[in-house]
Amino acid sequence: MNSFSVLWESTLKKLNAFYAQTTNQLGFSANIGKLSPEFEEDGVYYFKVQNDYYKESIQLRFLDKIREVLAEEVFASTGRRQNVEMVLFTPKELDIHLLSMQQTQPAAPARSNAISLKPGFTFESFVVGSSNQFAHAAALSVATSPGLVFNPLTIYGGVGLGKTHLMHAIGNRILEKNPDAKIIYTTTEAFTNEFIDSIQNNTPQLFRNKYRSVDVLMIDDIQFIAKAQRTQEELFHTFNTLSDNGKQLIFSSDKPPSEIPKLEERLLSRFNSGLLTDIILPDYETRVAILKNKLPLIKEQICCPLDIDDEVLHYIASREESNIRDLEGALKKVIAHAQLSRSVSSINMDIARVALKDFFTEPVVKSITPKVVIKAVCDYFDVTEADILGPKRSQDIVYPRQIIMYLLKTLTSFSNQKISESVGRGDHTTTIHAYDKISALLKTDPETQAAITDITGKIKE
Ligand code: ADP
Ligand code: MG
Repeated sequence: MNSFSVLWESTLKKLNAFYAQTTNQLGFSANIGKLSPEFEEDGVYYFKVQNDYYKESIQLRFLDKIREVLAEEVFASTGRRQNVEMVLFTPKELDIHLLSMQQTQPAAPARSNAISLKPGFTFESFVVGSSNQFAHAAALSVATSPGLVFNPLTIYGGVGLGKTHLMHAIGNRILEKNPDAKIIYTTTEAFTNEFIDSIQNNTPQLFRNKYRSVDVLMIDDIQFIAKAQRTQEELFHTFNTLSDNGKQLIFSSDKPPSEIPKLEERLLSRFNSGLLTDIILPDYETRVAILKNKLPLIKEQICCPLDIDDEVLHYIASREESNIRDLEGALKKVIAHAQLSRSVSSINMDIARVALKDFFTEPVVKSITPKVVIKAVCDYFDVTEADILGPKRSQDIVYPRQIIMYLLKTLTSFSNQKISESVGRGDHTTTIHAYDKISALLKTDPETQAAITDITGKIKE
């Protein structure tokens, strides 16, 4: 059973219990039996309902309550309060919907050599702006001449900024031109698990044959390799075999490889020998362009014929700055919400405000700066800021200094270089070293554990 069905089962139990206490019990059971869960996407829950009559009846009489209980169940199972939207499709609408999804995502024929490439993630659907133009250009070059230009290509940057999209776009483009190309897209987690399984099952040779015989190997979220020493070694050899044979390697990471903790030096030097390119936060204009670009597809997915005011797109773009996935999620919520309000003829700001009332959560943590952290640590250890920033290398100063770097690394998104500089050091490796040292101490040393807990509490007060 998938997680939506499980969620729906517990929601039904609660709803039945609720309506059993009301005079509406019979009406509820007659209606609810006509509703079945289909799928969920970004907090929008899609249901199939037997026909238009029941659709209207459920929407008018029961939907608010159903949504409320569903939201509680979502919260109970994920621990996250989120805005839950429901879309009801009659069988006919569902067919149209599924058909439109197939049309808008030109289906890649099942090919065993193109493992799980997403057909919708293409260059055509990727909006280029100043935040990603370099990564886009590099990806395009690699797609045009795999193995010949930038090898490996590593795309790094924050969550939801289009790294995975670009990787799939490369794969899709290569396959378009050469349907026989052997391409593997995988995540670091899947790669690691598969490698471990192959050792346990005594089939490492199969694993090697698979990964060392491709034309293009793409591994997503390589920062997770840090935890797996043996997988790093395996990757290193895979890397060499492929690049020696002129095969293309593509990686993504949420940070530059030099900042991935515990990445073996020889792997790091392999990454550095290719092209590293970052994607940064998109500016306002790019965010609006992305929304405009996604709009037709989302409208089709939700079967929504309504027009949407430009103002709504601008509103969403101005509120969601850091994650394109959430930007799309916000747009989907608004459209799904409008779809349910039967009387609207176009989607305007009034609807958007209601639909998104809980969507944009304000950051709860106040902004944490080096100054704040340094002061808290100096107070705790009773040392002076001048000593922390100065040249002293005695243990009573070095240790608090390392604690400061550790805290800045865990509590902020500053680069290692910036963290090192904020404690008067010039080299980014000082922070990496401090982070490793304090992380190790945290596993065994109660004093370090207490210091980190107390100081973090003070900082967040
Ligand atoms: P990442 O891998 O960096 O976390 P994804 O590639 O999964 O991010 O992107 C998250 C969502 O945002 C996807 O739906 C993707 O299509 C979309 N997206 C990101 N960047 C762009 C862009 N420049 N143009 C269009 N869609 C984008
Ligand atoms: Mg990704």
